[in-house]
Amino acid sequence: AERSSFVVVANRLPVDEVTGPDGEKQWRTSPGGLVTALHPVLTEHGGTWIGWAGGNGEAPEPFELEGINIHPVPLSAEELERYYEGQSNATIWPLYHDAVETPVYKRRWREAYRLVNQRFAEAAAEVAEDGATVWVQDYQLQLVPAMLRELRPDLKIGFFLHIPFPPIELFMQMPFRAEVLRGLLGADLVGFQQRLAAQNFVRLARHLLGLRYEGQSIQVDGRKVKAGAFPISIDTRDMERMAADPAVQARAKQIRAELGDPETVILGVDRLDYTKGIELRLKAFRELLADGKLKVGDAVMVQVATPSRERVEHYQTLRVKVEREVGRINGEFARVGVPAVHYLHQSYSRQELAAMYVAADVMMVTPLRDGMNLVAKEYVACRGDTGGALVLSEFAGAATELRQAFLCNPHDPDGVKDALLRAVAAEPAELKRRIRVMQRHLRQHDVAEWARTFLNELAAAADLDVQAA
Ligand code: UDP
Repeated sequence: AERSSFVVVANRLPVDEVTGPDGEKQWRTSPGGLVTALHPVLTEHGGTWIGWAGGNGEAPEPFELEGINIHPVPLSAEELERYYEGQSNATIWPLYHDAVETPVYKRRWREAYRLVNQRFAEAAAEVAEDGATVWVQDYQLQLVPAMLRELRPDLKIGFFLHIPFPPIELFMQMPFRAEVLRGLLGADLVGFQQRLAAQNFVRLARHLLGLRYEGQSIQVDGRKVKAGAFPISIDTRDMERMAADPAVQARAKQIRAELGDPETVILGVDRLDYTKGIELRLKAFRELLADGKLKVGDAVMVQVATPSRERVEHYQTLRVKVEREVGRINGEFARVGVPAVHYLHQSYSRQELAAMYVAADVMMVTPLRDGMNLVAKEYVACRGDTGGALVLSEFAGAATELRQAFLCNPHDPDGVKDALLRAVAAEPAELKRRIRVMQRHLRQHDVAEWARTFLNELAAAADLDVQAA
């Protein structure tokens, strides 16, 4: 395979296999913030992206796509079940999200996680040229930094965690906690969404391994490991452009018309995940209908709940609960031809989502815990100068930045109802002012700035370390 000076390692490759008009299969890059942000860096350096291509069994040979070297890593059906669905999504995901669902611990999952992490580390060691920069992404690959440093001490290694990092008491539950911590400490720079998460990490290093730290810098085996907060963002300009597109604007009008031109369209867009607070949002809406504070027909709720991790049990029970609540609301409050909630268990293109954001007067983002929540940022970016209200959980990373949202505590049903009512009743001028402030923030802090800041810090952290050695 081609050797690179810049390597990204992530569970998924940023590509999809599509079937062309002549029935021939071909790869194309999948749309997403991370790819957009890293594309310029990757093409500039002849960079490589290492990850799983989807499917199971043999991986395709490495290939080039739009200036990026794509390096697929294979996963067997059993590995997918144990490393991905099990250890990543039934153990680490719930634990790192405040254990809002009970994490499941299984030894054979952990072993598969180790094995797969080793495979990713070996792939990175193989393609990275001397002194290259390797950026490892997210909770599925927390052992990779240390494994890679063992193989290639010459590399600059960065790690970014896209999800929350839990407080010490929760992290301590995990059976192979020290191994995970040592895995992360293999990096020169460990990035988090929030300052608090970085603090949790630094304190954990002392608590669990007795390591010394100064500020955000931990001493490990004569090396320095830096921790820091790098809140991820969206491609703001691109989102703004898409929302302003006449076709998207027309589609937004059409959506409102299809909903019966109500006074207030309330929107939720989430993966169907128990961290997202979909049920509590529905319940708040139901109680407001029951209290007579909102009226069916005047207010309508649209909830997109994209299918997600459907083989994991937590997700199967969640689906049943959400669908029961939707049925209950419509059963009690809908009239013929006038549903109270439109529930869409489907996945949508970026264009269609943009049209929904444009069509929505109120956006409900109410996770119990979320690393960032890009949907909140996308809604703001799509609003142009039309105002619109964002109801946002204090427990989403986005709440640190989007202070002009209607913030609420998702654990408090009355607080959620109150925030929703205030959002519905707010004056248009007030809403425009709030959105404008948030839009200015997002233009300055977009995903390109996120990547630039992280990579600059990584270069500085790795240099410091070379001097110290
Ligand atoms: N998204 C999408 N189609 C859908 C639902 C969501 O493309 O049907 C996108 C959405 O625009 C956003 C991302 O998926 O960019 C979700 O990111 P977020 O941080 O909100 O939540 P996550 O799913 O990563 O937990």
